[in-house]
Amino acid sequence: MSFPLFLLAVAAGAAWLGSLWLHPFGACPRCRGHGHITRGKPKGRKPRPPKVTTCPRCKGAARRQRAGSRTLHQLARRVRRELARQRRQRQAAAPSRAED
Ligand SMILES: [Zn+2]
Repeated sequence: MSFPLFLLAVAAGAAWLGSLWLHPFGACPRCRGHGHITRGKPKGRKPRPPKVTTCPRCKGAARRQRAGSRTLHQLARRVRRELARQRRQRQAAAPSRAED
């Protein structure tokens, strides 16, 4: 098989960026998307009920922003703003050019 490995890497990176774009939030790794964690295992002769507490990592939200998703969306917003600025500049310049 002579399939170039770098193409595979590029495809994997694109897929990762796409999933990051579509799903900027992932399940919290600490509580596995439950929003609460169970502390202590029942053991011994008289097992106490395990303590269920709100997850300290996501504070019960059960979601967590994935690494890089903020950067990706900020970059997209910056590009969009720059494109809008250039369009405005073109529109502002157009009437004066029409008068000439
Ligand atoms: Zn959590």
